[in-house]
Amino acid sequence: MERTLSIIKPDAVAKGVIGKILDRFESAGLRVAATKKIQLTRQDAEAFYAIHAERPFFNDLVDFMISGPVVVSVLEGEGAVLKNRDLMGATDPKEAEAGTIRADFAENIDANAVHGSDSAENAVNEIHFFFADREIS
Ligand code: ATP
Ligand code: MG
Repeated sequence: MERTLSIIKPDAVAKGVIGKILDRFESAGLRVAATKKIQLTRQDAEAFYAIHAERPFFNDLVDFMISGPVVVSVLEGEGAVLKNRDLMGATDPKEAEAGTIRADFAENIDANAVHGSDSAENAVNEIHFFFADREIS
């Protein structure tokens, strides 16, 4: 069994589609092993997206991620990392396949509804960034 970290970003939380997005995961056979709604601090968002610190869109990305609460979840299942990325669709919703979360719920590349870990190794670090072991079951 593999685990991945999902974030329902501030745009999707504000739209009231938390339940619809979690349903996509569960309907695809991913179990919600942990979930919570939190308001990220600027320090949280900068640390979480540190890999993008040198990119031109970094400040906009951080501003967006702290613009409202997010829902972070641990998803568990066979091939969870790739399965979640498939369900999410392309980073830019204009390029996302029909029926994906970003095609259905995202406005643009800045406000793109969800984050998902991009490798099993990063997933372990991202899960520990948000959750204590006793919060995951
Ligand atoms: P995420 O990490 O949020 O799941 P991703 O893995 O599909 O998204 P990354 O390349 O990791 O994409 O980029 C992280 C986030 O930075 C994207 O979700 C997007 O909001 C923003 N971003 C990425 N590329 C661009 C870009 N060219 N212009 C503006 N924003 C961008
Ligand atoms: Mg990414």
